[in-house]
Amino acid sequence: MSLSDYFADFIAADELTVWSDAGTLPGVSVIEHAPGVLALMPKAPDPAAGATIISAGIHGDETAPIELFGELLAALDAGQLRVGAPALLIMGNRRAIAAGKRYIDTNLNRRFQRDTLLRDDERLECLRARELMQAVDRFMTDISGPVLHMDMHTAIRDSRYPRFAVEPFSETPTPDDVWQLLAEAGIQAGLSQHQHSWTFSHYTRHYHGAMSFTLELGRVAPFGSNDLEPLSPMLDLLRARIAGTSLKTAGRASLVRFEVVDEVMRESDDFSLCLADDIANFTEFAPGACLARDGIQGDWIVREAPVHVVFPNANVERGARALLLARPVPQAPCDSR
Ligand SMILES: [Zn+2]
Repeated sequence: MSLSDYFADFIAADELTVWSDAGTLPGVSVIEHAPGVLALMPKAPDPAAGATIISAGIHGDETAPIELFGELLAALDAGQLRVGAPALLIMGNRRAIAAGKRYIDTNLNRRFQRDTLLRDDERLECLRARELMQAVDRFMTDISGPVLHMDMHTAIRDSRYPRFAVEPFSETPTPDDVWQLLAEAGIQAGLSQHQHSWTFSHYTRHYHGAMSFTLELGRVAPFGSNDLEPLSPMLDLLRARIAGTSLKTAGRASLVRFEVVDEVMRESDDFSLCLADDIANFTEFAPGACLARDGIQGDWIVREAPVHVVFPNANVERGARALLLARPVPQAPCDSR
């Protein structure tokens, strides 16, 4: 069975039964760590090449990453892409992908908390988060050296920076050369989180020390309607990571760094954002501007310095984040390469 067929069957199957054949590649051990999660372990890896975790479809309606993932599978199946370093390929939420929805029961990308392994929440996304956490744990036991995790998404709305990376909160800063790598792959901005949040990229960073990012790669669109051209540098990076080679670029790209300074939570049913529905991510608001109205918290007004709004969404569950507020990070003095 080809890798492409494996993942197509994984998404389309009514019920998952026993998977006897998880695909084969010459010179590579293909290990199924969970349904829809394949480790590609080269039998003769380049010791200098780092391992990579590549995930797509954590949100089911974010199709561009699933198409990029498909390009990788096709290149692997055709022998055009050689596996030179360990890679874990993860297709996230198959039920939501098949339904063309962000999620079925609850937002999968808030469920990656190890404590939930002990709870028996039977919602579909809670079950899947447990499977994915255990699959990553298994993969990591076979890996040494630094790991890069790219969890690929697309945003619900336009963005002043269409392609940006969200860095989960961590005590350990991301090295400059990793930011540079993302810039070379066409990422235009980096947004650093200010506190723990239970996303997939936070899981691999927090529990395994991986260099992990939630990558927002443009805007949500149906299958076949994505313009993959702006994502070709990202595809080059994914291919280089699997091949265990370095990305060949001019080395001149740069990205703008932001850090989250606050967040607006939805506390009541009587909640609205004061922003236009179609406002772009990273739009700036001056002091005095109203950002949200909540029946319990009252009005949320910008104080002191201007803020940039990211991920505004009034239609979140109560107690969930409706808006992130960010400010630019002063550029590092030494960014030359
Ligand atoms: Zn997403």
